Amino acid sequence: MIVCFDIGGTAIKGAYARAPGDIAQVPRVPTPTADFEAFVAVLARIVSEAPEPTKVVALSIAGVVDPDTRCMIVANIPCLHGIDLATELAARLSLPVVIANDADCFAMAEAGFGIGRGHDVVFGIILGSGVGGGLVVRGHLINEDGGYAGEWGHGPVSATRAGPLSRDVPRFACGCGQTGCLDAACSARGLERIDKHLHGRDLTSEQIIAEFEAGASKAQETIDVYVDILSGPLALLINTTGASVVPVGGGLSNAVPLIDLIDRETRKKTLRRFKAPLVVPAACRIEPGLIGSAILGFQKVARI
Ligand SMILES: [Zn+2]
Repeated sequence: MIVCFDIGGTAIKGAYARAPGDIAQVPRVPTPTADFEAFVAVLARIVSEAPEPTKVVALSIAGVVDPDTRCMIVANIPCLHGIDLATELAARLSLPVVIANDADCFAMAEAGFGIGRGHDVVFGIILGSGVGGGLVVRGHLINEDGGYAGEWGHGPVSATRAGPLSRDVPRFACGCGQTGCLDAACSARGLERIDKHLHGRDLTSEQIIAEFEAGASKAQETIDVYVDILSGPLALLINTTGASVVPVGGGLSNAVPLIDLIDRETRKKTLRRFKAPLVVPAACRIEPGLIGSAILGFQKVARI
């Protein structure tokens, strides 16, 4: 058995896994964001209550393991930021610990149990509060030891003219310190920024998508610009990785007509002529953080 966790800024979800697809969840617990000892105590209690001996503890977390220092980079859980969490937890729990970014766990879940099954190369992307991603090759996460692989949302690549009418679009400032990141233009907030720039209004991403789905012309233009900015870098990524499927998670993935449009525009721009849909809504909708971390946990067990 392994114990897997999905560590978010507001709640810790935990589960006992007898197999990657066989997980029994425990009640979620508020995340102690400012108290590391309290954080460890939550995990230790859930591990101690496991119904069978635990071989590995696996975590999905909204953060990155710095590939040079091994320390966590976590914006919304201050007590974990800057800590070598795998080493600390392994010592406290006396168990091997696996840690992966939540977008990476999403990609693993899709590769193992979602729309990516049967594909050698799966690039899972998140379009929601941010733009993220994870690359899985033949069932293995490309960055099992942490680091930034798959973080296609950051870098100054956003087009400055986009859409059928070639509208001027600024390169928006990003929280990472650069300007022109896809994270700043193609997240839910980015969609709102594009709409405000084009039409001078303050709509939420949900309102923009609802108008788009109702056929409103302003929202259509916003979405066309958004998809144009997104699809070029995504096509480049598909050429580079050889991915044959791109499952989409995050809040914007619920807008099926939007994902369909991203798919059509991206397939126009890839070198490979994909006949079937390539960019598709995620299929593994239930707890991808737990499923993905469970898969990684069992891969760790196999290596011990
Ligand atoms: Zn950025």
